[in-house]
Amino acid sequence: MSLTDELYRETILDHYHHPRNQGELNNATIKIEGVNPLCGDEITLYFNADDKTLSDVKINSHGCSINTASGSIMTECVKGQSLENVKEVINTFKTMMLSKEDNTELSEELEELECLRGVKKYPVRIKCALLPWNTLQQGLERLSSGKTDNQDQYVEK
Ligand code: ZN
Repeated sequence: MSLTDELYRETILDHYHHPRNQGELNNATIKIEGVNPLCGDEITLYFNADDKTLSDVKINSHGCSINTASGSIMTECVKGQSLENVKEVINTFKTMMLSKEDNTELSEELEELECLRGVKKYPVRIKCALLPWNTLQQGLERLSSGKTDNQDQYVEK
């Protein structure tokens, strides 16, 4: 294992053991669950947003280290951002994880996502990393459709 691989592994474990923005948001604009049956990852995502900004976000993760770390880093990348930015970050991360050629460049603000790039070597774990992001994406779709009152669930297939 190279030194950088070792560093990335440590970053993932740090987020796994000390996940950022864990918990619940009372009166969240959107509450949405995400499930990855392949691994058994389960998350509940809460966020507050108006039509422009995602002001606050919390996540309750019950999953593997990659799932929990990915969700933790995600909250740090999107909290306080404009919805436009949030969508862009989601696209960047999903492109990085799903593209065959790996030339996705990460800006300085998204540097922390770099540690998840190595997960691509283990295809079965990619969904673990993507679950929080796909769940957020579905939550944003519900926000823009105006159907914010009913609960929803995103399931990885
Ligand atoms: Zn998992």
